[in-house]
Amino acid sequence: MHRRQFLASAFSAGASFAQSAASKPNIVLILADDLGYADLGFTGATDIPTPNLDRLAKTGIVFTNGYVSHPFCSPTRAGIMTGRYQQRFGHENNPVYDPANFTAGLPTNQTTVAQLLRSAGYVTCLTGKWHLGAADKFLPSERGFSEMFYFRGGGHDYFKQELTGSPREYLIPLERDGKPLAEPEYLTDALAREAAAYVRRHRSRPFFLYLAFNTPHTPVQTAPHHTEKVKHIADEKRRGYAAMVVALDEGVGKVMRAISESNLDDRTLIAFLSDNGGPINVTASHNTPFREGKGTVYEGGIRVPFVLRWQGKLKPGRYDRPVISLDFLPTFTAIAGAKTPPAVEGVNLMPYIQGQKSGAPHERLFWRAGGGVSYAVREGRYKLARQAGGAEQLFDLDADPAEANDISGSQPEVVKRLHAAYEQWNKDNIAPLFESPRPAAKKKG
Ligand code: CA
Repeated sequence: MHRRQFLASAFSAGASFAQSAASKPNIVLILADDLGYADLGFTGATDIPTPNLDRLAKTGIVFTNGYVSHPFCSPTRAGIMTGRYQQRFGHENNPVYDPANFTAGLPTNQTTVAQLLRSAGYVTCLTGKWHLGAADKFLPSERGFSEMFYFRGGGHDYFKQELTGSPREYLIPLERDGKPLAEPEYLTDALAREAAAYVRRHRSRPFFLYLAFNTPHTPVQTAPHHTEKVKHIADEKRRGYAAMVVALDEGVGKVMRAISESNLDDRTLIAFLSDNGGPINVTASHNTPFREGKGTVYEGGIRVPFVLRWQGKLKPGRYDRPVISLDFLPTFTAIAGAKTPPAVEGVNLMPYIQGQKSGAPHERLFWRAGGGVSYAVREGRYKLARQAGGAEQLFDLDADPAEANDISGSQPEVVKRLHAAYEQWNKDNIAPLFESPRPAAKKKG
């Protein structure tokens, strides 16, 4: 009797150990680039078909107050990678594309989510846009990724690469695990193809896939099989952009299919968001009902489509309290049984979205751009914003999500409180370590 019990418990301990290693969920983080808030079916688009992303939203949790930590590309990515406000370590601008520049990139003394998950036994894959520094020391291979198919810069031509000479940023070769290559397929399709292959290849072990599409970022270059689906759009500028959103949606569908067909739906957390709002005048993207877009601390610049799906684990629905892209790292490390460094400022969202914790994950959220030229604070329904050195404005986002009515005059005590909170938060920030390349300089060479 005694012996039988011992054997039984030894067996179950062994089984549960094996199970805990095998049952670590896979994590797939899909980032769009410059996607307008309202350009997906589930956020209100009626002219662009996005059935795959709509299905992801319908089977997952849609965060109606989901933010990124910056209104443009690279700083948002630095925040996602570290779970920290990127102004803490000076990553407040886009790094120049220059493999000989050893300053412009995610500081190497910061720990990335890929490093943490890799230490917890994950294979870590990057597909797509890096944009966290082009010098060797900044490359994904040095920042926790074990497999990669990517380009170093902040954007790319969708049809070609130049393997010889000194190509400009958008024409550099793609790289697979450190080796340059020319890719014949339309870039968005190629990134989806590679991401789906990672999923299938690693179906039997826990994997982290960071799929950073550069679509629908400029240049607006389209493939016929995507334009066909938006030919009803009369405005030429929007039609081109819409075809790239279709490409994004089809790419996401390809990866979702790989997950399903590998029987991993119940073992995979999928996160989706855009890195910033749509640049409305550049691409005719829509951020409706939000004000302005990319580059601003108004809602159009920082509130983005934001979804988490984990079939069988997270009940589909919506979550309305403010969350931020910094929350991915601690959410991922928590479900992976990985370490969460004490410096992390994001919050593990799992207890909130599973109903174990009520209340808001964050008392306040903060933004700062241009070293403080623009900043914003959100506290509950209120948001204090100063855009491009203008006056501070106060908005009641519950009553006025479009930020049309500045109520700073009638609520001076709220302005004072939020301003003081910003000053307090800002004390722990440093000056930007590097400046964004000037657009004119970018076009040269
Ligand atoms: Ca972007």
